[in-house]
Amino acid sequence: MIVMKFGGTSVGSADAFVQVAAVVQAAAERAAAQGTPGVVVVTSAMSGVTNLLIQAAERAARGDERFHREQQATLLLKHQGVAGQLVAEGSERAALTNTFEQRLGEFDRLCSSIAVLGELTLRGVDVVSGLGERLAAPLLAAVLRAAGLRAEAIEATELIVTDAVFGSAAPLDDLTGQKCRARLLPLLRNGVVPVVTGFIGATVDGIPTTLGRGGSDYSAAILGAALDADEIQIWTDVNGVMTADPRIVPNARSLQELSYEEVAELAYYGAKVLHPKTVTPAIAKNIPVRVLNTFEATHPGTLIVEKARAESHGTVKAVTAIRSMHLITVAGRGMMGVPGIAARTFGAVARVGANVLMISQSSSEQSICFVVPDSSAAAVVNALQTEFRRELEHQQIDAIQPRGSINILAVVGSGMRGTPGLAARVFAAVAQAGINVIAIAQGSSEVNISLVVVDEDVVPALRAIHDIFELHLPTSQRTHRALPQ
Ligand code: ADP
Ligand code: ASP
Ligand code: MG
Repeated sequence: MIVMKFGGTSVGSADAFVQVAAVVQAAAERAAAQGTPGVVVVTSAMSGVTNLLIQAAERAARGDERFHREQQATLLLKHQGVAGQLVAEGSERAALTNTFEQRLGEFDRLCSSIAVLGELTLRGVDVVSGLGERLAAPLLAAVLRAAGLRAEAIEATELIVTDAVFGSAAPLDDLTGQKCRARLLPLLRNGVVPVVTGFIGATVDGIPTTLGRGGSDYSAAILGAALDADEIQIWTDVNGVMTADPRIVPNARSLQELSYEEVAELAYYGAKVLHPKTVTPAIAKNIPVRVLNTFEATHPGTLIVEKARAESHGTVKAVTAIRSMHLITVAGRGMMGVPGIAARTFGAVARVGANVLMISQSSSEQSICFVVPDSSAAAVVNALQTEFRRELEHQQIDAIQPRGSINILAVVGSGMRGTPGLAARVFAAVAQAGINVIAIAQGSSEVNISLVVVDEDVVPALRAIHDIFELHLPTSQRTHRALPQ
């Protein structure tokens, strides 16, 4: 059995829905021919819809009562447009229209309440932003039925039980596993394709949650693990995981195979093609993950497995960037030799729930610097000022400095382990491009070298690193150029 997840672009237009139907039909036929129990489909919202829903909720919270009403009409038109082209007029279409109107009625009532309250909680954002998948799943199920398959739309609130961390909820594995098996296995046995909403879940008490932006990938992996799937397929708009984001590095090429570890690093450091948590459930059950292109379905894409046979063990595999970061520096000559400064620093950071993406400490112990997302920078600085009030007064610590417009570049590849000279090549590449590196770190896993650069240097740095390692060439054709003088 396979779980197939389709992203926003893959369900972005009537033409895209036609591609998806063809891909699902082919997979269902293969499964039937092999006598295996079939296919589970997971869908994202149509592209652009989640952003629009969130924007509407935010504007409602600022007292704007008009925007969400206008968007209600736009959203109805967008979904009806696909239904009009692909679902025959009659009872199917009428039922679908009815579903859209119900969901959009919910959207209107939610945004109106948000406007009355004048505030938007994370819990409120989750209810509103999950509506996109709840519109797309019934539409995709109807399109699959129109293509001759038996399909049924299912809301993941029935399947994925999560904690109550709104905005980035985590699944409770045992409950989720039980619910998935009880609800989905009978359908599969009867030859029905379940079409499940990505991105959303619900707490034990039934309160809607989301798994975080881009979370439909994670949904597919959660379902795959719960059902012991043979494969989890992520269908998107590029030919698998590539050596860099092809929108930034035009000559990036697809990677045939990667390890879970490599993909986890790439996704964590900004490769949007997969949600960072996607491989976690797959690792637990050792299920292969394949990233494929809905619009070029015959391309083999990327296979992600436990130990990549590592495309003839190329050293550096890919380069990625994560943006919108702040670098926080805690500095002072009085810090030298004072035990516990680092522990207190990260204790304070942890208390405000900030995610630290990179740490670098100078050997002289006169400063510690680390990188956090823009959204938590102010809270982190506040927490540190409180923690170190006395040290600041006595000038043991001179300053707690936040610096914005920061980005982390990550150079990733498991073959980097124990290969000397790689860091030198990375820095030679960026130096030749005239780029100033603000901080560096090498992950303890040794599959990642990270460097911090300012906004305007991101694109040239990514291209320079991609070039120096000749990532646009198949591994066998790379020259392993010597260090430039
Ligand atoms: P979906 O809607 O299918 O989930 P996303 O937009 O979330 O798709 O992710 C696919 C996009 O990720 C690609 O269009 C590409 O621009 C971007 N991307 C970033 N880094 C990479 C990479 N290393 N390999 C492939 N795509 C990448
Ligand atoms: N629709 C959600 C988002 O835009 C989830 C996803 O696409 O994976 O974040
Ligand atoms: Mg995505």
